[in-house]
Amino acid sequence: MAESRYSRSASNLKAKAETKSNTTKKHRWRFPKWLLSLAAAAVLVLVCLIVTGRLPYKPDDSSVLNVEPAALNVWFFDVGQGDAALVMGPEGETILIDAGPGLSAARLRVSLHALGISAFDCAIFTHPHEDHIGGADDLLQAFGAKTVILSPGVFTPSASQMRMNVEIADCGAEVIEALPGRMLTLGSLKLILLAPCSVEYEDENDLSVVVRIEYGDISLLFTGDITEAAERDLLALYDPVILKCDLLKVGHHGSAGSSSEDFITAVSPGYAVISAGADNEYGHPAPSVLQRLKYSRIFRTDRDGTIHAVSDGTDFIFYTENGEKK
Ligand SMILES: [Zn+2]
Repeated sequence: MAESRYSRSASNLKAKAETKSNTTKKHRWRFPKWLLSLAAAAVLVLVCLIVTGRLPYKPDDSSVLNVEPAALNVWFFDVGQGDAALVMGPEGETILIDAGPGLSAARLRVSLHALGISAFDCAIFTHPHEDHIGGADDLLQAFGAKTVILSPGVFTPSASQMRMNVEIADCGAEVIEALPGRMLTLGSLKLILLAPCSVEYEDENDLSVVVRIEYGDISLLFTGDITEAAERDLLALYDPVILKCDLLKVGHHGSAGSSSEDFITAVSPGYAVISAGADNEYGHPAPSVLQRLKYSRIFRTDRDGTIHAVSDGTDFIFYTENGEKK
Protein backbone atom coordinates (compact mmCIF):
# COMPACT_ATOMS: atom_id res chain seq x y z
CA MET A 1 0.00 0.00 0.00
CA ALA A 2 1.35 3.39 -1.00
CA GLU A 3 2.45 5.61 1.90
CA SER A 4 0.03 8.54 2.23
CA ARG A 5 1.21 12.11 2.00
CA TYR A 6 0.29 12.65 5.65
CA SER A 7 2.09 9.58 7.02
CA ARG A 8 5.18 10.57 5.01
CA SER A 9 5.10 14.01 6.53
CA ALA A 10 4.74 12.44 10.00
CA SER A 11 7.82 10.25 9.46
CA ASN A 12 9.80 13.28 8.28
CA LEU A 13 8.79 15.26 11.32
CA LYS A 14 9.76 12.39 13.65
CA ALA A 15 13.15 12.10 11.95
CA LYS A 16 13.70 15.86 12.25
CA ALA A 17 12.67 15.78 15.91
CA GLU A 18 15.15 12.97 16.67
CA THR A 19 17.92 14.85 14.93
CA LYS A 20 17.08 17.98 16.93
CA SER A 21 16.93 16.00 20.19
CA ASN A 22 20.38 14.54 19.50
CA THR A 23 21.74 17.97 18.74
CA THR A 24 20.24 19.38 21.95
CA LYS A 25 21.64 16.54 24.00
CA LYS A 26 25.04 16.98 22.45
CA HIS A 27 25.22 20.71 23.20
CA ARG A 28 23.29 20.78 26.56
CA TRP A 29 24.75 23.53 28.73
CA ARG A 30 25.56 22.62 32.32
CA PHE A 31 25.14 25.22 35.09
CA PRO A 32 28.65 25.65 36.57
CA LYS A 33 28.91 24.57 40.22
CA TRP A 34 30.88 27.67 41.14
CA LEU A 35 28.03 29.87 39.85
CA LEU A 36 25.50 27.93 41.96
CA SER A 37 27.67 28.43 45.08
CA LEU A 38 28.00 32.14 44.29
CA ALA A 39 24.20 32.53 43.92
CA ALA A 40 23.61 30.68 47.22
CA ALA A 41 26.13 32.95 48.99
CA ALA A 42 24.44 36.07 47.55
CA VAL A 43 21.01 34.91 48.79
CA LEU A 44 22.49 34.22 52.24
CA VAL A 45 24.05 37.71 52.44
CA LEU A 46 20.74 39.31 51.35
CA VAL A 47 18.79 37.40 54.02
CA CYS A 48 21.35 38.43 56.67
CA LEU A 49 21.08 42.11 55.64
CA ILE A 50 17.27 42.00 55.81
CA VAL A 51 17.23 40.21 59.19
CA THR A 52 19.66 42.73 60.68
CA GLY A 53 17.55 45.55 59.27
CA ARG A 54 20.30 46.99 57.05
CA LEU A 55 18.18 46.68 53.93
CA PRO A 56 14.66 48.09 53.74
CA TYR A 57 12.07 45.58 52.59
CA LYS A 58 8.33 45.16 52.76
CA PRO A 59 7.64 42.54 55.43
CA ASP A 60 4.68 40.16 55.09
CA ASP A 61 2.57 42.39 57.29
CA SER A 62 2.91 45.30 54.82
CA SER A 63 -0.86 45.87 54.87
CA VAL A 64 -0.55 47.46 58.32
CA LEU A 65 2.67 49.25 57.39
CA ASN A 66 1.00 51.74 55.08
CA VAL A 67 0.74 55.45 55.81
CA GLU A 68 -2.68 56.99 55.23
CA PRO A 69 -1.87 60.49 53.94
CA ALA A 70 -3.30 63.62 55.57
CA ALA A 71 -4.52 61.64 58.60
CA LEU A 72 -3.40 60.57 62.03
CA ASN A 73 -1.66 57.20 61.84
CA VAL A 74 -0.90 55.19 64.97
CA TRP A 75 0.86 51.82 65.07
CA PHE A 76 0.97 49.52 68.08
CA PHE A 77 3.76 47.16 67.13
CA ASP A 78 3.75 43.50 68.02
CA VAL A 79 7.01 43.36 69.99
CA GLY A 80 6.15 40.30 72.05
CA GLN A 81 5.87 41.07 75.78
CA GLY A 82 6.50 44.83 75.77
CA ASP A 83 5.30 48.17 74.43
CA ALA A 84 6.21 50.12 71.29
CA ALA A 85 3.96 52.56 69.45
CA LEU A 86 4.40 55.22 66.80
CA VAL A 87 2.10 58.21 66.41
CA MET A 88 2.37 60.03 63.07
CA GLY A 89 0.55 63.30 62.52
CA PRO A 90 -0.93 64.38 59.17
CA GLU A 91 2.15 66.42 58.31
CA GLY A 92 4.43 63.46 59.02
CA GLU A 93 5.35 64.52 62.58
CA THR A 94 6.47 61.44 64.52
CA ILE A 95 6.28 60.43 68.16
CA LEU A 96 7.74 57.12 69.29
CA ILE A 97 6.25 55.87 72.55
CA ASP A 98 8.49 53.15 73.99
CA ALA A 99 10.82 50.90 72.01
CA GLY A 100 9.95 47.33 73.04
CA PRO A 101 12.45 44.78 74.36
CA GLY A 102 15.95 44.44 72.90
CA LEU A 103 15.04 41.13 71.25
CA SER A 104 12.47 42.76 68.95
CA ALA A 105 14.57 45.84 68.08
CA ALA A 106 15.83 44.60 64.67
CA ARG A 107 12.33 43.68 63.50
CA LEU A 108 10.94 46.99 64.78
CA ARG A 109 13.66 48.91 62.95
CA VAL A 110 12.74 47.14 59.71
CA SER A 111 9.05 48.06 60.20
CA LEU A 112 9.96 51.72 60.87
CA HIS A 113 12.12 51.79 57.73
CA ALA A 114 9.20 50.29 55.77
CA LEU A 115 7.05 53.20 57.01
CA GLY A 116 9.62 55.63 55.63
CA ILE A 117 10.71 56.96 59.02
CA SER A 118 14.03 58.81 58.88
CA ALA A 119 14.01 60.47 62.35
CA PHE A 120 11.72 60.85 65.35
CA ASP A 121 10.54 64.34 66.17
CA CYS A 122 9.86 63.11 69.68
CA ALA A 123 10.57 59.89 71.60
CA ILE A 124 8.78 59.21 74.87
CA PHE A 125 10.24 56.47 77.05
CA THR A 126 7.56 55.89 79.68
CA HIS A 127 9.89 54.14 82.13
CA PRO A 128 13.26 52.42 81.76
CA HIS A 129 12.20 48.78 82.09
CA GLU A 130 13.59 46.32 79.53
CA ASP A 131 10.20 45.57 77.91
CA HIS A 132 9.81 49.31 77.10
CA ILE A 133 13.33 50.55 76.42
CA GLY A 134 15.36 47.43 75.57
CA GLY A 135 15.31 48.55 71.91
CA ALA A 136 15.76 52.28 72.63
CA ASP A 137 19.53 52.44 72.00
CA ASP A 138 19.12 50.56 68.71
CA LEU A 139 16.30 52.83 67.45
CA LEU A 140 17.99 56.06 68.60
CA GLN A 141 21.19 55.04 66.87
CA ALA A 142 19.28 54.29 63.65
CA PHE A 143 16.86 57.25 63.62
CA GLY A 144 17.85 59.79 66.29
CA ALA A 145 15.30 62.04 68.02
CA LYS A 146 14.94 65.81 68.29
CA THR A 147 13.23 65.62 71.68
CA VAL A 148 13.17 62.88 74.29
CA ILE A 149 10.62 62.83 77.11
CA LEU A 150 11.57 60.89 80.24
CA SER A 151 10.07 60.23 83.65
CA PRO A 152 11.62 62.31 86.46
CA GLY A 153 11.42 59.24 88.72
CA VAL A 154 14.46 57.43 90.06
CA PHE A 155 14.80 53.84 88.84
CA THR A 156 17.05 50.91 89.68
CA PRO A 157 19.93 51.33 87.20
CA SER A 158 20.04 48.83 84.36
CA ALA A 159 22.30 48.12 81.40
CA SER A 160 19.51 48.97 78.89
CA GLN A 161 18.90 52.30 80.62
CA MET A 162 22.61 53.16 80.46
CA ARG A 163 22.79 52.25 76.76
CA MET A 164 19.70 54.38 76.10
CA ASN A 165 21.20 57.37 77.93
CA VAL A 166 24.40 57.13 75.87
CA GLU A 167 22.38 57.23 72.62
CA ILE A 168 20.20 60.11 73.85
CA ALA A 169 23.37 62.13 74.46
CA ASP A 170 24.92 61.01 71.15
CA CYS A 171 21.94 62.07 69.01
CA GLY A 172 21.87 65.48 70.72
CA ALA A 173 18.20 65.27 71.69
CA GLU A 174 16.64 67.88 73.94
CA VAL A 175 15.53 66.05 77.10
CA ILE A 176 12.24 67.06 78.69
CA GLU A 177 11.09 65.77 82.07
CA ALA A 178 7.47 64.67 82.18
CA LEU A 179 6.14 67.03 84.81
CA PRO A 180 2.39 66.71 85.34
CA GLY A 181 0.36 69.23 83.32
CA ARG A 182 3.17 70.11 80.89
CA MET A 183 1.87 70.77 77.36
CA LEU A 184 3.66 70.50 74.03
CA THR A 185 2.58 71.05 70.45
CA LEU A 186 3.94 69.11 67.49
CA GLY A 187 2.38 70.11 64.15
CA SER A 188 -1.34 69.47 64.57
CA LEU A 189 -0.81 67.22 67.57
CA LYS A 190 -1.23 68.45 71.13
CA LEU A 191 0.54 66.53 73.90
CA ILE A 192 -0.38 66.83 77.55
CA LEU A 193 1.94 65.09 80.00
CA LEU A 194 -0.26 63.95 82.89
CA ALA A 195 2.02 61.74 84.99
CA PRO A 196 3.94 60.70 86.99
CA CYS A 197 1.90 62.70 89.50
CA SER A 198 4.49 61.89 92.19
CA VAL A 199 8.01 60.48 92.39
CA GLU A 200 7.34 58.67 95.65
CA TYR A 201 5.76 55.44 94.45
CA GLU A 202 6.77 52.05 95.83
CA ASP A 203 6.26 50.36 92.46
CA GLU A 204 8.52 51.75 89.70
CA ASN A 205 5.75 51.05 87.17
CA ASP A 206 3.76 53.89 88.76
CA LEU A 207 6.53 56.32 87.76
CA SER A 208 5.57 55.79 84.11
CA VAL A 209 4.99 58.82 81.91
CA VAL A 210 1.30 59.13 81.05
CA VAL A 211 0.58 61.22 77.96
CA ARG A 212 -2.63 62.44 76.38
CA ILE A 213 -2.45 63.20 72.65
CA GLU A 214 -5.16 65.21 70.92
CA TYR A 215 -5.84 65.52 67.21
CA GLY A 216 -8.98 67.23 65.94
CA ASP A 217 -11.85 65.93 68.06
CA ILE A 218 -10.18 62.70 69.09
CA SER A 219 -7.83 61.88 71.97
CA LEU A 220 -5.48 59.07 72.89
CA LEU A 221 -4.15 58.12 76.31
CA PHE A 222 -0.89 56.21 76.75
CA THR A 223 -0.48 54.96 80.30
CA GLY A 224 2.81 53.04 80.31
CA ASP A 225 2.75 50.45 83.08
CA ILE A 226 0.90 52.42 85.77
CA THR A 227 -1.04 50.44 88.35
CA GLU A 228 -4.02 51.30 90.53
CA ALA A 229 -1.97 53.61 92.83
CA ALA A 230 -1.02 56.02 90.01
CA GLU A 231 -4.51 55.74 88.54
CA ARG A 232 -5.95 56.95 91.87
CA ASP A 233 -3.63 59.99 91.77
CA LEU A 234 -4.64 60.80 88.19
CA LEU A 235 -8.31 60.66 89.22
CA ALA A 236 -7.59 62.95 92.18
CA LEU A 237 -5.48 65.48 90.26
CA TYR A 238 -7.37 65.97 87.00
CA ASP A 239 -10.78 66.98 85.83
CA PRO A 240 -12.49 63.85 84.36
CA VAL A 241 -12.65 65.60 80.95
CA ILE A 242 -8.85 65.39 80.70
CA LEU A 243 -8.85 61.64 81.38
CA LYS A 244 -11.74 60.77 79.06
CA CYS A 245 -10.36 59.50 75.75
CA ASP A 246 -11.30 57.72 72.53
CA LEU A 247 -8.35 55.33 72.42
CA LEU A 248 -6.59 53.94 75.48
CA LYS A 249 -3.27 52.10 75.43
CA VAL A 250 -4.19 49.90 78.39
CA GLY A 251 -1.80 50.13 81.35
CA HIS A 252 0.75 47.43 82.21
CA HIS A 253 -0.12 45.01 79.38
CA GLY A 254 -3.59 44.43 80.82
CA SER A 255 -2.37 43.19 84.22
CA ALA A 256 -4.97 42.69 86.96
CA GLY A 257 -3.39 45.37 89.20
CA SER A 258 -4.06 48.09 86.61
CA SER A 259 -7.14 49.45 84.82
CA SER A 260 -9.18 49.76 88.02
CA GLU A 261 -12.95 50.06 87.72
CA ASP A 262 -12.94 53.76 88.67
CA PHE A 263 -10.17 54.60 86.22
CA ILE A 264 -11.80 52.78 83.29
CA THR A 265 -15.15 54.41 84.11
CA ALA A 266 -13.52 57.88 83.98
CA VAL A 267 -11.53 57.17 80.81
CA SER A 268 -14.40 55.24 79.13
CA PRO A 269 -12.42 54.57 75.94
CA GLY A 270 -14.24 53.64 72.75
CA TYR A 271 -11.18 51.59 71.76
CA ALA A 272 -8.67 49.86 74.01
CA VAL A 273 -5.32 48.48 72.83
CA ILE A 274 -3.49 45.90 74.91
CA SER A 275 0.17 45.24 74.11
CA ALA A 276 1.14 41.78 75.36
CA GLY A 277 3.18 38.80 74.16
CA ALA A 278 1.39 35.74 72.80
CA ASP A 279 1.13 33.11 75.57
CA ASN A 280 3.14 35.32 77.94
CA GLU A 281 4.15 33.89 81.30
CA TYR A 282 2.25 36.60 83.25
CA GLY A 283 -1.17 35.69 81.88
CA HIS A 284 -1.62 39.20 80.43
CA PRO A 285 -4.20 40.43 79.77
CA ALA A 286 -6.10 39.44 82.92
CA PRO A 287 -9.69 38.27 82.38
CA SER A 288 -10.81 40.81 85.04
CA VAL A 289 -9.35 43.67 82.95
CA LEU A 290 -11.06 42.43 79.79
CA GLN A 291 -14.29 42.36 81.80
CA ARG A 292 -13.76 45.96 82.99
CA LEU A 293 -13.22 47.01 79.37
CA LYS A 294 -16.44 45.35 78.21
CA TYR A 295 -17.80 48.59 76.74
CA SER A 296 -14.69 49.18 74.60
CA ARG A 297 -13.65 47.56 71.36
CA ILE A 298 -10.49 45.71 72.37
CA PHE A 299 -7.45 45.13 70.17
CA ARG A 300 -4.58 42.91 71.38
CA THR A 301 -1.12 42.58 69.88
CA ASP A 302 -0.90 38.99 71.17
CA ARG A 303 -3.82 38.04 68.91
CA ASP A 304 -4.04 40.79 66.28
CA GLY A 305 -0.30 41.27 65.73
CA THR A 306 0.70 44.83 64.84
CA ILE A 307 -2.28 47.19 64.99
CA HIS A 308 -2.70 50.26 62.76
CA ALA A 309 -5.26 52.92 63.75
CA VAL A 310 -6.11 55.71 61.29
CA SER A 311 -8.10 58.80 62.20
CA ASP A 312 -9.43 61.80 60.31
CA GLY A 313 -9.86 63.62 63.62
CA THR A 314 -13.41 62.38 64.25
CA ASP A 315 -13.16 58.57 64.55
CA PHE A 316 -10.82 55.64 63.90
CA ILE A 317 -10.46 52.84 61.38
CA PHE A 318 -8.35 49.89 62.48
CA TYR A 319 -6.24 47.51 60.45
CA THR A 320 -4.50 44.54 62.02
CA GLU A 321 -1.68 42.32 60.88
CA ASN A 322 -3.99 39.31 61.11
CA GLY A 323 -6.86 40.82 59.14
CA GLU A 324 -8.74 44.07 58.63
CA LYS A 325 -11.19 45.28 61.24
CA LYS A 326 -13.27 48.45 61.18
ZN1 LIG B 1 5.86 46.74 80.75
